[in-house]
Amino acid sequence: MPALPAIQEIPEMRAWSDRVRRSGKRIVMVPTMGFLHDGHLSLVRAGRQHGDCLVASIFANPTQFAPSEDFDSYPRDLERDVRLLAAEGVDLLFNPTAADMYPRGYQTYVDVEEVSRPLCGAHRPGHFRGVATVVLKLFNIVRPHVALFGLKDYQQVQVIRRMLLDLNLDVEIVACPTVREPDGVAMSSRNRYLGAAERAAAACLERALSKAQTLVRGGETRAANVRDAVVAEIRRQPLARIEYADLCDPDDLEPVSEIRGPTLLALCAWVGKARLIDNRILGVGQP
Ligand code: AMP
Repeated sequence: MPALPAIQEIPEMRAWSDRVRRSGKRIVMVPTMGFLHDGHLSLVRAGRQHGDCLVASIFANPTQFAPSEDFDSYPRDLERDVRLLAAEGVDLLFNPTAADMYPRGYQTYVDVEEVSRPLCGAHRPGHFRGVATVVLKLFNIVRPHVALFGLKDYQQVQVIRRMLLDLNLDVEIVACPTVREPDGVAMSSRNRYLGAAERAAAACLERALSKAQTLVRGGETRAANVRDAVVAEIRRQPLARIEYADLCDPDDLEPVSEIRGPTLLALCAWVGKARLIDNRILGVGQP
């Protein structure tokens, strides 16, 4: 098993990054919260094509969890994560401590206003403020040329893109497709919370997305009708409870009522203790 160099200290990470940049190499970064699965590893694999030095970070970021949320119980297994990253040939793991990332007296946050508001932002106040803040901090420390994110967290990608534009950050973002289990369930560290019956029930999200796509391909253009069908599909599954099912513009996430071009269908449902999200771009001619 190849060893995986790891850095925990912020100054050491900056020095590593400075050295690599000075040697003319491109740094590719994959930020994660750990408890890795094939979704994360797909980003790592794709990352190879975008530069010379591949850095993965593992940091369960406390500021993106509300006090009532699952920060304390969020699954962690650093030893296993290190093995997986080493097997993928990652060059460096950066895993800072929360005490170093948010030392006493910490008080600066990034608020990406409008695109953070709908969907998950409406149900998890402060979540995207935590996400934007930690991503900016990680970028300032690791100083990547390119960073990869998963489209499973579609709104997160849009929030980060907007932040980079607005704050003139010179990092290229690559968004990668959602990796799914054989039954269509999007891979997620939180799937760990699901019991066997709940795990089977979780497939209702993807079924609802597929149903919507079929309707739209069949000519349905009214967002309300598509939404009704999606809600009905999820309600057939008694273990699932919908948090939101919204159709919106894929760029600014504004709600749409008529489907005239590519349209984002974003879903969130609770199954047991797991809050699951999934999405698909609907639209004529879309795969
Ligand atoms: P997380 O550890 O949940 O913060 O995720 C780290 C990165 O992996 C984020 O960019 C996620 O969007 C991405 N990711 C998580 N699950 C998947 C998946 N099933 N497919 C593709 N990317 C994913």
